[in-house]
Amino acid sequence: MSKFFFLLACAAALFGQERPTVLKTATLIDGKGKILHNTIVVIEGSKIARIGGPAPANAITYDLSAFTVSPGWIDTHTHLSYHFDNKDRYAGRDEPPNEALLHIADNLVRTLNAGFTTVQSPGALIDKDFRAATARGILPGPRILTSLQPLTETSGDAAKLRELVRQRKEQGADLIKIFASKSIREGGAITMTQEQLDAACGEAKSLGLRTIVHAHSAESAKAATLAGCTSIEHGAFITDEVFDLMAKHGTYYDPNIGLVLQNYIENKPKYFGIGNYNEEGFAYMEKGVTIVLDTFRKALKHKDLKIVYGTDATAGAHGQNYREFIVRVRDGGQDPMQALISATSLSAESLRLGDQIGAIAPGMQADIVAFDGNPLQDVTAAGRAVFVMKGGKVYENLAGGSK
Ligand SMILES: [Zn+2]
Repeated sequence: MSKFFFLLACAAALFGQERPTVLKTATLIDGKGKILHNTIVVIEGSKIARIGGPAPANAITYDLSAFTVSPGWIDTHTHLSYHFDNKDRYAGRDEPPNEALLHIADNLVRTLNAGFTTVQSPGALIDKDFRAATARGILPGPRILTSLQPLTETSGDAAKLRELVRQRKEQGADLIKIFASKSIREGGAITMTQEQLDAACGEAKSLGLRTIVHAHSAESAKAATLAGCTSIEHGAFITDEVFDLMAKHGTYYDPNIGLVLQNYIENKPKYFGIGNYNEEGFAYMEKGVTIVLDTFRKALKHKDLKIVYGTDATAGAHGQNYREFIVRVRDGGQDPMQALISATSLSAESLRLGDQIGAIAPGMQADIVAFDGNPLQDVTAAGRAVFVMKGGKVYENLAGGSK
């Protein structure tokens, strides 16, 4: 080795990734239902090496003992690309692409800084580029899973839907998004036939792809469950009978009760007059806030139903993904630990990433967030993420220094 390269190698050893990171914690929620006290988390590279034991001598240490530490949270349903444009209106096709890209980058940063280290975006073609950009590790943003463009009842007959599922896989989709009902602004009635759903979810399953299905009416949720689809999204009008069926089939339920409708209503002038964002649509959404809350309460009574954590965040909502937790616990009556498990390990399992993310344990990705306060005792603490690490890299640190 020449002297020059020897010096470079020494520099890499001194300043490179070899130095482990230590997080000092007082209260650590592991994502699977346990709380640990006064321990350390040792991180090597992108992964958690161990919990507890002596701190390595050469570690970079972050003292998070004034905070509550949890796995990075997961949002299984967020539309990262939806945003308000430079005129502060819901952005459409007439927006210059460079402006759109920067607004989307804002959404990514907001989401990550809120403590959401993984999100699923169903779906837009552009998600693919942001998935790649955040994976490169420079642009701050959560890990992204995307369906690319969704399939609807107008996509074609059963054969055509099968073809489109194969096409999405070739395009690089992580999952398939299907619309099986109208929007809540239009009453939510079923739009796809059983045959169409069987084809789309069946084909996806045979290719190893998950399917998440927009379904508001009980009829549409039932048809998607019988078709073997992975998850039902929204489900505002699901009945006890269909919840039982979903639990029996192991179909995930993603209720989105705490952010999406509230955000539309709070930002009404920015949406109003575009598509079905009209008086009738807003009237449906205002009624919807109570309807989805009641449906969620009903769902909680089905103890074996797997309720994942999605917000359906759209323009204006990014970075407020924690509001879903607040509404589920405070208004819906969900046990806070169960809500936190939903936002971490259960959602990870639903994404088939349960062995990589959603828990603080050796071998897992070091996706770790610290809150100012304990969300299990004070739900509003969920909105105060002060430290965010993704894959062993610190993206936000309002918690104080390191040494
Ligand atoms: Zn959505």
